[in-house]
Amino acid sequence: MKGPICNVCLNSDIMCISCKKKVESGDVKDIDITVLKTLNNISKEFKPLADVEIKKIVEGEKILVIVTKQGDGPRIIGKKGVMVKKISKLIGKPLRVVEDCSDVKEFIEKLITPIPIVGINVIYSPEGEILKVLIPRGRKIPMSKSSFGEIVNIMFSKKAIVANG
Ligand SMILES: [Zn+2]
Repeated sequence: MKGPICNVCLNSDIMCISCKKKVESGDVKDIDITVLKTLNNISKEFKPLADVEIKKIVEGEKILVIVTKQGDGPRIIGKKGVMVKKISKLIGKPLRVVEDCSDVKEFIEKLITPIPIVGINVIYSPEGEILKVLIPRGRKIPMSKSSFGEIVNIMFSKKAIVANG
């Protein structure tokens, strides 16, 4: 498995200098270590996980988003979502797996699937641009609106809100 922490550290309780620096700078948080170690443990039995590259882990209020390298999503989700359910149970939080992409719209699409995006408006406010993501009336995204905003902000340094349109 590849991730923000090296394999040596994933298999040990002591951290190498390079990984320690990432923790000290805040690039790697406790939750990252917990999730990566959990994945690493499971990967010993569940081989497809061993080839997965984890790009980022983002923790929202009641959700955890694991961003994988493009194409690695199915490996971590497993057949019929078995693996993702197992990981979610071990971590104690609902989980979303999203493949990495540089396009914010594409990322949001993947993040809130199966809820479709009706449109995205850009609002210009004194604090900068805000992406207003419109979803169908009466539908809800699979996470809180604040978590959604937080996740998009961490990934793209952009403000985003969701509204029914
Ligand atoms: Zn290390």
